[in-house]
Amino acid sequence: MQLPFDNSYAQLPAEFYSRLAPTPVKSPTLLHLNHALAEQLGINTTQLSSPDGIAVLAGNAVPEGADPLAAVYAGHQFGHWNPQLGDGRAILLGEILDRDNKRFDIQLKGAGPTPYSRNGDGRAAIGPVLREYVVSEAMHALGVPTTRALAAVSTGETVRRETFLPGAIITRVAQSHIRVGTFQYFISKGNVEAVKALCEHVILRHYPEIAAENNKPLALLKVVVDRQALLVAHWQSFGFIHGVMNTDNCSIAGDTIDYGPCAFMDNYDPATVFSSIDHGARYAYQNQPGIAQWNMANFAQCLLPLIDEDDEQAIKQAQAVIDGYPEVFSRYYRERFGRKLGLAQTNLDDGELIESFLTLLKENKLDFTNTFRALCELPVHESDTQQDAKFKTQFESEDSIQVWLALWRQRHSHNAATQQSATADANNLMRSANPAYIPRNHRIEQMILAAEQGDLAPMNRLIKILADPYAEQANANDLMQPPEPNEVVQATFCGT
Ligand code: AMP
Ligand code: MG
Repeated sequence: MQLPFDNSYAQLPAEFYSRLAPTPVKSPTLLHLNHALAEQLGINTTQLSSPDGIAVLAGNAVPEGADPLAAVYAGHQFGHWNPQLGDGRAILLGEILDRDNKRFDIQLKGAGPTPYSRNGDGRAAIGPVLREYVVSEAMHALGVPTTRALAAVSTGETVRRETFLPGAIITRVAQSHIRVGTFQYFISKGNVEAVKALCEHVILRHYPEIAAENNKPLALLKVVVDRQALLVAHWQSFGFIHGVMNTDNCSIAGDTIDYGPCAFMDNYDPATVFSSIDHGARYAYQNQPGIAQWNMANFAQCLLPLIDEDDEQAIKQAQAVIDGYPEVFSRYYRERFGRKLGLAQTNLDDGELIESFLTLLKENKLDFTNTFRALCELPVHESDTQQDAKFKTQFESEDSIQVWLALWRQRHSHNAATQQSATADANNLMRSANPAYIPRNHRIEQMILAAEQGDLAPMNRLIKILADPYAEQANANDLMQPPEPNEVVQATFCGT
């Protein structure tokens, strides 16, 4: 099995990782292979799905050119500092340049113990592997920055969690696996040289556009803050709840990473939290924007000695960037939600139009995804008696939604060039921002239960439908429906 590796992280000093190979498993079989992604990466899919390829995906064979390693990092977990974490069950095989010459990590998650496993077994169960596979690929199709899934294999071994479960390994593809926690690890050890090397690596790899800046660390802080704000604005606009926004799960490239007890909410309620371990609701939907800022403040701390020799000056400049986050986030948030309302351009006043609609969703306990999708059917200029009536029946008070619809149409009337084409444009924009399908939690749970019993049909179906989430597809109405009362998932588990 030949993979076109071109490794750069492994060139960093030895203190950044431990070199080790994955631990082989008993009898691997392929659960799913992402053909489109493999092709984008220039990997031959016939080879990859052959026994030799599956051996690589299972960690039973190390392909030529790989330089396998587990990276070290630290992090704040639920606000508590942990000075040493690291890839406890993931092995980076190496990096590949894709068809567009973009660099991607190829990582096996669940590939066996490493020096950073603490008390863990280094393995993953089929449930979390398939959740990450399906949700990360769905996020990609929705247009959200994210790590991706190249393959999932079952190991033929069991892992011990609350019960014994089938083991599995996911091959994760990421712009990189560098986290806020990677910077934190080195700065907490007073290793400024390592932070410097990491900055250089990150700028070269992810942000070459700032390489000529006078104050590169400050420019790096700004761009990472910007990407984080954009990412969380995306999450909010789809009702996505990450669940474990620890600093070690915060990607420097601005991707959604480390899918654990994540979930999309059905009914719109900003207080929603799913994770069974999030007792304080720290990572509730409504807290995500603020937590991202908290994470960015921790990132800023790592860069202070590089931003300015003078502590006070460094703090002042970094603080200004962190203080600017709410405005950056609000702009992205308004942009994302503006599109959901059919507005290609938004201004400050549109915030109120967005919030008043969300308030109505909350008061009426309406499904976030489906209500926005239903709004796509309403003409943005004149009312359509039949369509409007159908839409309004979802609301307890038809007056309040009537008032809102009038305000919405008034806002659109400012935009109209020629009304008809503007209407079509606005409705098309809405259909491209309001998905018909999201990976609903109850469907994910059903898919996992089936896969644990050896039935992969629900997984295959979810992957297929969710690859095209903005287009209504034949025989997939059930995947649009929110859960029946007996299907509602109250809590999600990391399963680690
Ligand atoms: P996560 O919540 O999945 O991001 O994991 C947090 C930390 O725990 C990371 O350092 C993981 O590598 C580690 N970890 C999680 N599960 C396991 C496991 N089964 N074995 C070893 N380490 C693990
Ligand atoms: Mg993690």
